[in-house]
Amino acid sequence: MSRNYNDDRERSDNFDRSGDRDSRGGGGRGGDRDSRGGGGRGGPGGRRMHRRKVCRFCLDKVDLIDFKDTKLLQNYIPERGKILPRRISGSCATHQRMLAEAIKRARNIALLPYATA
Ligand SMILES: [Zn+2]
Repeated sequence: MSRNYNDDRERSDNFDRSGDRDSRGGGGRGGDRDSRGGGGRGGPGGRRMHRRKVCRFCLDKVDLIDFKDTKLLQNYIPERGKILPRRISGSCATHQRMLAEAIKRARNIALLPYATA
C-alpha cells in the first residue's frame, strides 16, 4: 500500500477578483431612538413644612385690630391688594376675620388700596 501523497493541493487560484465590492455605507438608519425613559416624578412627595404658624395677633394678645394701623394691615396685603389668605398669613380664624374687617374698613376710607387685579 503505497500511500502516495497525492499532493494535489488544488490551489484554487481563482480569486474572484472582482475588486469593486460594493461596500456602500449601508446607511444606518440611526436616529430614532426612543428615549422615552425619563419620567418618574418623585411620587407623592408630601413635603409639608412642619412649622407651626401661630397667629401673630394671638401672640400679641390683640383683641381688636385697629383699621387705622395701616402699617400692620399692609403686612397682610400683598402687592395686588388682596387680603392674604389665612393659610399664608397663619392667623387664626378670629383674627383673620378681624383683619379682613379692618382691611375693608381701611380701604373704605382710602387708607389701603382695593384689590388691583
Ligand atoms: Zn389669632
